[in-house]
Amino acid sequence: MNPTNDPALVSWVETAQGSDFPIQNLPWGVFSFNDGPARVGVAIGDRVVDVGVLAEAGLLGDVPADVFATGVLNDFVRLGPAVWSRTRARLSELLRADVGRLRDDAALRARALVPLADVRLHLPIRVEGYTDFYSSREHATNVGRMFRPDAPALLPNWLHLPVGYNGRASTVVVSGTPIRRPLGQTKAPGEAAPSFGPCRRLDLELEMATIVGVDTEMGRPLTLEEAERGIFGYALLNDWSARDIQQWEYVPLGPFQAKVFATSMGPWIVTAEALEPFRVEGPKQDPEPLPYLRQSKPMNYDVELEIAIAGPGAREETVVGRSNFAHLYWSSAQQLVHHAIGGCAMKVGDILGSGTISGPSEGSFGSLLELTWNGQRPLRLADGATRGFLEDGDRLTISGRARRDGVTIGFGACSGVILPAPDFRG
Ligand code: MN
Repeated sequence: MNPTNDPALVSWVETAQGSDFPIQNLPWGVFSFNDGPARVGVAIGDRVVDVGVLAEAGLLGDVPADVFATGVLNDFVRLGPAVWSRTRARLSELLRADVGRLRDDAALRARALVPLADVRLHLPIRVEGYTDFYSSREHATNVGRMFRPDAPALLPNWLHLPVGYNGRASTVVVSGTPIRRPLGQTKAPGEAAPSFGPCRRLDLELEMATIVGVDTEMGRPLTLEEAERGIFGYALLNDWSARDIQQWEYVPLGPFQAKVFATSMGPWIVTAEALEPFRVEGPKQDPEPLPYLRQSKPMNYDVELEIAIAGPGAREETVVGRSNFAHLYWSSAQQLVHHAIGGCAMKVGDILGSGTISGPSEGSFGSLLELTWNGQRPLRLADGATRGFLEDGDRLTISGRARRDGVTIGFGACSGVILPAPDFRG
């Protein structure tokens, strides 16, 4: 076992024990404090560690301090897997209860540890490209049944390759950013002509983002092993979706306006290394994938995921769905291999959306489209209100955690409030 994952590790940051951010987690993010510049940090307990302060103090070996002062993680991530691992090991050591170097240096500690409650969290990485996959068999089957009721639910390619489309990096925003209801063109199957106006079927997609940590040369494919080593980590992702716009526009080239208006990303990137103890076998792949996609060990992760809604003015949120990252049919490594196999240059800071992660049972679906079966079976919220799709003022939150041996590896939360559509007359 990697010593940083040892469930017996205890930190001198007392709030770390039993929290979503124990010493075994150390997720990366970007924060600012008192309107200061954005800095790279890792969360522990109810604190964020200003990693640049430790580097400037000479505590992180040969990792240059300036990579932590750029306001994004890209420059650190570009240093590669050996440096990610070394830095994690060193941070783990400095935060351990039995190591005094930082624990006993009150002046340094005061500069390096900031209360999480006092910081503003930013998008952790400059998103270079955003590709969204469609890798949950249950989700693809449910959508197929609803959108193409007279055809087989899964299209013939689905079991042979991770289906995906190129999304927009420009509208990936950090958790907490309000989401404006989009305008667009819709035409319900029974209508004679399309009309233009606010989306009426605004939805979420419960996903995970894979953060690519490797630059590849155009024209050079990756192997599965290279792809796996090149994954820096994972974050929560909500791929907001306008279902009525999607249903009218998506044939033949896939979603366009239905997806490009906003995608929310969680503020914390949990490293692949921190998730190592939660590695599990994914669904059995049958037919066996072609050799370039064939994996020889478990490549999924057991991460519990949750969707909660609070209507405007609601005192409490209602959990409406519970799923698990492990349900994904195509693993993140397979998605990355497939993305690069034709020669596409991948970049540090690319994110791969997993696709909506739906489980096999009705309460485990990852979108309102499925949870309400296209609005036909509205959900009841704690305050008695019902929802087919999202309404203005709703706050939607997704969250995730992996749990084992008394250790919780939390991803934090990814939320957004729905704002009314813009006042626009074309
Ligand atoms: Mn999606």
